[in-house]
Amino acid sequence: MSKITRRRFLAGSAAGGAALVLTPAQKALASGSFEGFPEGMGVLVDLTRCVGCRTCEAACNNEQNLPEPAKPFDDTSVYDEIHHGQKRRTSDKAYTIVNRYEPKDTDEPLYRKVQCNQL
Ligand code: SF4
Repeated sequence: MSKITRRRFLAGSAAGGAALVLTPAQKALASGSFEGFPEGMGVLVDLTRCVGCRTCEAACNNEQNLPEPAKPFDDTSVYDEIHHGQKRRTSDKAYTIVNRYEPKDTDEPLYRKVQCNQL
C-alpha cells in the first residue's frame, strides 16, 4: 500500500481546489450556518489521520437536522454492517458516512469518509 505524504496530500488538495468553481447559489448553500465563518465554503480534512471516531457523522447529522440514526454515533459495530453486499452508504438520512476497511498488508485499519456529494 502506498503511503500518502503530507506534501502529496496537500498538492492533490490544491490541485482539486483549483478545479473547484462554485456558482453563487452553490456558494450560498456551501456557506451553511458555520458560526464565525460566514465566507466558509468547505472544510479541508486530512483523511490519512482519520481514526474512525464518527464525530463528523454526528456533526453533519446535527448541522443538517437529520433524524437520529438507528445506532448511536459512538457505536463502532456499524463498521461491521454489510447491506446488499456493501459497506454503509450515504442516504437522505445520513449525508456523512465513515467506513472501516482492513487492508491485507497492514494491521492498521483504514477509514474512508463518504459525503453527500457522492449520493
Ligand atoms: S471519523 Fe470523521 S471526525 Fe473522526 S477522525 Fe475520521 S474524519 Fe475526523
